[in-house]
Amino acid sequence: MKISIVGTGYVGLVAGVCFADTGHHVICIDRDLEKIKTLKDGRVPIYEPGLEDLMRPSIRSGRLVFTENLAEAVQRTDVIFIAVGTPDLPDGNADLRPTFAVVDAIAAAANGPKYVVLKSTVPVGTAADVLARFQSSCPYKVEIVSNPEFLKEGAAIDDFLRPDRIIVGCKTNEAKGMMQDLYAPFVKNGHPIFFMDNTSAELTKYAANAFLATKISFINELANLADRVGADINAVRQGFTTDRRINPAFFYPGVGYGGSCFPKDVKALVQTGTKNDSPMRIVNAANEVNELQKRVLFSKIKTHFGTLKGRKFAIWGLSFKPRTDDVREAPALVLIEQLVSEGARVVAYDPVAKETAKAASAAPFEIADSAYQALDGADALAVLTEWNEFRSPDFSEVKSKLKTAVVFDGRNVFEPAKMKEMGFHYYCIGRQTLSKRESV
Ligand code: NAD
Repeated sequence: MKISIVGTGYVGLVAGVCFADTGHHVICIDRDLEKIKTLKDGRVPIYEPGLEDLMRPSIRSGRLVFTENLAEAVQRTDVIFIAVGTPDLPDGNADLRPTFAVVDAIAAAANGPKYVVLKSTVPVGTAADVLARFQSSCPYKVEIVSNPEFLKEGAAIDDFLRPDRIIVGCKTNEAKGMMQDLYAPFVKNGHPIFFMDNTSAELTKYAANAFLATKISFINELANLADRVGADINAVRQGFTTDRRINPAFFYPGVGYGGSCFPKDVKALVQTGTKNDSPMRIVNAANEVNELQKRVLFSKIKTHFGTLKGRKFAIWGLSFKPRTDDVREAPALVLIEQLVSEGARVVAYDPVAKETAKAASAAPFEIADSAYQALDGADALAVLTEWNEFRSPDFSEVKSKLKTAVVFDGRNVFEPAKMKEMGFHYYCIGRQTLSKRESV
């Protein structure tokens, strides 16, 4: 099959590389000329494990090409995926301007019937709006297929090659057959392709992200209560998730969810509910809880130190989660902004997200070359991302480099009892640092 994919970000590039890897001919398009140049050189402009290695053979064989010329790609292919960003607008709605700009460009360039596949996460009703746009400006038959993506950054290749399920919203058997052929190599594991109408496909994506976000906010709120009452959230979590109806996966307390998806998708779903007179109260609460959770570590720091002016803090981890350089909505950036606004100095270390964080942060901070270098003379260490390399540090070195042995663990990577034994003042999320329970 010959396909085009517009937008070579985390989703479009992974989809393009994986489709090409299974033998399809793929043209990846982006308006970012720098990105296209990097990709043509066989390099991946984002950090995604395994992506570059998988990409190179397809480039060499000519099955995967990159271009900024959308019109030419549209004319050479009958199936065009749209995978551009759909960030949130200040009012919480999804910004569909990039999507519609691509739709209009496809309509202007079309030289025959096309399938236009919406892979971007788009609000309910977008497929219908896109179809109306084509009908008013394109003389050829265009079918809109909704095919939301569920990959996780950091595990994107595996998620795409072995998905839990594929969701396809479409109207005709021809579109259904085309999508079935395209995805056949990826569902050999027996996982299903669910066919449904476009609206249901659009809502399925928001349902998944909103539910996952709600799970995180639920456990975070519970962890905060555990902090107050002297319970241990790990014990509580274990205790209640052994109920077979409650899936323990992706259900850990921390400093709130971030990334390019949950925050904006949760807000967009709330907007969709409001527009349709069907308020999404639970999802709205998940968003509110998350906004507060991103500030929880700061409160602990402030309570411990009082004034922060003139103090120095080391931060381990900048990306919103491990195995990605994506810092969009990352809790680390919120903490940095709070510390800096109180007159503190921040030195941060992250294995891959140094440049992305520097570019995205509104507040100034320094980047260290190593995790230990960041600690030099710092008043405390704060762990914001659970990269593997932070899990078993040399604690005696950590202690010797810090001015005071204080650790704020936003991801619960260390053990409270051990930290106490080693002489650290240790703060984490929902697990007692012993003092409270000892006093009971
Ligand atoms: P991204 O910001 O990483 O990439 C989007 C790309 O589209 C950029 O390279 C940008 O230059 C390009 N682009 C924008 N307008 C264009 C235009 N007019 N013509 C050509 N190229 C254009 O975005 P992403 O993270 O890949 O997300 C894309 C979509 O997929 C979003 O709707 C997102 O919600 C959804 N999604 C993302 C993930 C994820 O983990 N990142 C997972 C599932 C779904």
